[in-house]
Amino acid sequence: MMNADPELTILREKIRVFETRTRHMEPSKAVWTDWLTEVGSYLNEFLVDTREGPAYRQPEAGKRQEDYGFSLAPEGEPLTTALDELREWVDYSGLNPASGGHLAYIPGGGVLPAALGDLLAAVTNRYAGVAFANPGAVALEHFLIRWMAQLFEFPETTGGNLSSGGSIANLIAITTARDAQGVRPSEYERLVIYGSARMHHCLDKALRIAGLGFSPLREIELDDRQRIIPEELEKQIQLDRKAGLIPFLLIGSAGTTDTGSIDPLDALADIAERESLWFHIDAAYGGFFYMLPEIKPLLNGISRAHSLVVDPHKGLFLPYGTGAVLIRDIQQLHNSQYYQANYMQDAAMADLGWSPADLSPELTKHFRGLRMYMALKLFGTDVFKNALAEKIALCQYFHRAIQELGFETGPFPELSVTHFRWAPPGQDPNPLNRWIMDRVHEDGRVFLSSTTLDDQIWIRLAVLSFRSKILTNFPKMSKFTVLPSVHMRSIRIH
Ligand SMILES: *Cc1c(COP(=O)(O)O)cnc(C)c1O
Repeated sequence: MMNADPELTILREKIRVFETRTRHMEPSKAVWTDWLTEVGSYLNEFLVDTREGPAYRQPEAGKRQEDYGFSLAPEGEPLTTALDELREWVDYSGLNPASGGHLAYIPGGGVLPAALGDLLAAVTNRYAGVAFANPGAVALEHFLIRWMAQLFEFPETTGGNLSSGGSIANLIAITTARDAQGVRPSEYERLVIYGSARMHHCLDKALRIAGLGFSPLREIELDDRQRIIPEELEKQIQLDRKAGLIPFLLIGSAGTTDTGSIDPLDALADIAERESLWFHIDAAYGGFFYMLPEIKPLLNGISRAHSLVVDPHKGLFLPYGTGAVLIRDIQQLHNSQYYQANYMQDAAMADLGWSPADLSPELTKHFRGLRMYMALKLFGTDVFKNALAEKIALCQYFHRAIQELGFETGPFPELSVTHFRWAPPGQDPNPLNRWIMDRVHEDGRVFLSSTTLDDQIWIRLAVLSFRSKILTNFPKMSKFTVLPSVHMRSIRIH
């Protein structure tokens, strides 16, 4: 008899109570549809501001993190309350990275099909970490890795991983290099790493996390375009060998963040080959420009790297949260990142191909391949090439235009980053450009950032938001065309 055991009856009653109390965790179709509609209108309102409003709103002065009114209630609150909080405290304050006026750091913008991918991934919650759990999700991510491997002309043996960004992708590459070169911890202090003073700081961080923080890091002398001079690299390697050190890793940049400089990748690949160094290329900013036939020669040698990092949330205009690493020999990546756990033995038994969990530090992970797939699937690949070519043209246009206004500029941009400053004779340009930077931030129509090169402050312009335009906004005066006048006005006031 079902009800013979009184304990079971008591438990059943208890469970019923909990079922009632947890019912709203599964909203009705009507509630869910209302939510989607409400979020949809919030986003449409946001997109109007993104297209027409400023790129930067100075955050309230003196407001500390503890001053925000975020709160949680035991019984929950309506969606409207949450959206009101976002409207007041988050989405209309500080930098709007989705704006076409975001021309600082390295923009991207965040194409909308990627958001659909995120929504689908969150609701369906497919497990993309292990092939056994969802062969299709893993196949989709590996399809994208192969797509990139083909794009960068990497061999069939290539493997890789979609990471949360370029920093983690670089970390995976550095640990793989360390493990593949078969070095022992006792040798760490004698391992020499070669790079440039302009390489991204996430590489210093990755080296430190990988235990290589005490290994000598040689910053090779740069030419007048901030690129590694191969002969200087060669000289340094010989000096290090004579000193009994172990040259081990060479890091090249395909588009530095500061100045968009591209190291002479092919010459570096030759040296790495001759000297048996692991050749890593950080192409987080510049990589996807390789899609353009006219840019390809500038990045010649990229396909010879042992490991390559690109950032789809930059060069493919995805929202934040997608980087990628390619390793020429997937076995080396696997040897560095695989794991075995008893509770995963069913997964290990199934021979379904590589799993992201064995190719990266993550086990359970966001199904981030879907956002990238949706963007490429819905828009097609051609528009990305055109948008990238457009960004270069915009940057070159700006470079010329600002030069004509009398600004000093860096070299003619090869990619979509350039730098400039106001340097009238007889005045210290640093405080002047600091001042201009502050005025631009106050103005907010566009957002720019500055950098210091050889103790000199330069203002940077980085064009990589898919929304940065000149022609379509022209009647309203594009954010792009008003930029020089913002500067000129600031200077006159001064
Ligand atoms: C942005 C960038 C990184 C870091 O990537 P994140 O996605 O921000 O973690 C690394 N290297 C270069 C050249 C970059 O431009």
